[in-house]
Amino acid sequence: MLEKMEERLDPEAVIEEFEALSRDAERVQRETLRTILEQNGESEYLQRWGLNGRTDPHSFKTRVPLVSHVDLEPYIQRIADGKSPSALTGKPITTISLSSGTTQGKPKFVPFNDELMDSTMQIYKTSFAFRNREYPIANGKALQFIYSSKQFKTKGGLAAGTATTNVYRNEKFKKTMRAMQTPCCSPDEVIFGPDFNQSLYCHLLCGLISRDKIQVVSSTFAHSIVHAFRTFEQVWEDLVTDIRKGSLNSRITVPSVRTAVTKLLEPNAELADKIYQTCAGLSNWYGVIKELFPNTKYIYGIMTGSMEPYLKKLRHYAGGLPLLSADYGSSEGWVGANVNPLLPPEMATFAVLPNIGYFEFIPLKEGSDGGERDAVGLTEVEVGEEYEIIVTNFAGLYRYRLGDVVKVKGFHNSTPELQFICRRNLLLTVNIDKNTEKDLQIAVESAANLLASEKQELVDFTSRVNSAVDPGHYVVFWEISGDPQNNEVLQECCNCLDRSFVDAGYVGSRKINSIGPLELRIVRKGTFHKILDHYVGLGAAVSQFKTPRCVGPNNGDVLQILSVNVVKSYFSSAY
Ligand code: AMP
Repeated sequence: MLEKMEERLDPEAVIEEFEALSRDAERVQRETLRTILEQNGESEYLQRWGLNGRTDPHSFKTRVPLVSHVDLEPYIQRIADGKSPSALTGKPITTISLSSGTTQGKPKFVPFNDELMDSTMQIYKTSFAFRNREYPIANGKALQFIYSSKQFKTKGGLAAGTATTNVYRNEKFKKTMRAMQTPCCSPDEVIFGPDFNQSLYCHLLCGLISRDKIQVVSSTFAHSIVHAFRTFEQVWEDLVTDIRKGSLNSRITVPSVRTAVTKLLEPNAELADKIYQTCAGLSNWYGVIKELFPNTKYIYGIMTGSMEPYLKKLRHYAGGLPLLSADYGSSEGWVGANVNPLLPPEMATFAVLPNIGYFEFIPLKEGSDGGERDAVGLTEVEVGEEYEIIVTNFAGLYRYRLGDVVKVKGFHNSTPELQFICRRNLLLTVNIDKNTEKDLQIAVESAANLLASEKQELVDFTSRVNSAVDPGHYVVFWEISGDPQNNEVLQECCNCLDRSFVDAGYVGSRKINSIGPLELRIVRKGTFHKILDHYVGLGAAVSQFKTPRCVGPNNGDVLQILSVNVVKSYFSSAY
């Protein structure tokens, strides 16, 4: 009993701790940098830059260069090969995270350690404490659509898996979930099962069995929740049968998963009837989450950035339940927590936790000489400005370009609240045009609105530049919910896409035809599921999956999946 009480999180104490840290953000940043440099000063990497024991921000910024992942790759590779475990840190690195690879095109190794685990838990607890003020949770369970990736050993014998896998496998994760009174309703075997389609089915089943206890429906990235309920639409009758009979569908073939879930099942005709009637009574699955899990307080997951396109569908499934957007971080480390849970996902911000790393910001506004401006410190950023974020953390990354662009929306005490804007790398460019992930998203959103007249919706999208023809042009791939019947509407969607890229370089080039008409290609239903399967096959985790919004020429497999599934194609006549 005592043990149980000790485990509970005290949200007000967590908030007080965060308030103290954020009030004193500048001092906390200096101390954090000092601790990082003291702990790791003996590493080969820091030795190289001749800090000679200096730990102040000025010496750090003048001596240690800004780097990207490729600059650190040789060090990380030697760590993974077991040749130089202290290349980047004082304490040897024993675990490697595999980033999702969906943002960068190919998976990359990054170091993982206890400090990273602790900051992950600090972020989780901080945002939970703020959510809990608005939507208190008590003795509940969470239907968490979380999945582990395959784990493997590197050449040097280090454990490697995606960052989320490293987190889920850690005992501190479960302890924190218990402390928040929302342990996952599915047994570990489901989370760690080797086949994500089977795990997804079982997550749904476990959720339904404990439907009255479910108070939170969540996932790391919101895509997984949408994907789960799209699947539910297909398999719900099988789930009802399993509950009625108390036996598990034969599609679940992994023995560990079968055994674990079978233990939870017993024939329950009453529950089966209830679920059947609920589903039968829904119109186009509107509100399915709310109806199936009546005690759910909110839906939780990352809903910003490349997840925004799924919000419409998520709102449809949620049927009025609050959508609360989760925190901001990456395999490399966390950045900020959502401490304003009442803001709609489109406006979500992330307050930087000043003790989990040392943060710098490169202003995106060009300097007077047209070049890149110097990075400024956490408390020196200006409201309304956009920056590229630079991270120094406890796991061996120093002045590391995360590759993300953020905008400062305000301050919480003296720590900034950031809005995620997009990945920095350019997405679409033929010549002088520049369009980012965000520009593509805005264009797709306005064009997809035209589908409503056809009672159709956009399931997913991606793009590429076709420079094999002259002039080169943009190609946008769409999967839509129904069959592409009305050519006129889709032609109009294509024109609208073309018109919606408003950057001067694009518009100018289109007018003189140095960029050709945009092409909209409609792909067969299920194509994006195949792309997901492809990434999972490569070792990516569904939990971290983000549909690549631009498919580069090096990504031949995905291009192949897309091209063999094209069913219709349209060229813009907008210019
Ligand atoms: P990964 O490669 O799986 O570690 O993904 C990390 C990347 O996911 C970050 O660099 C961001 O681009 C994106 N990301 C993470 N959290 C958020 C968030 N809250 N909002 C938008 N994008 C995010």
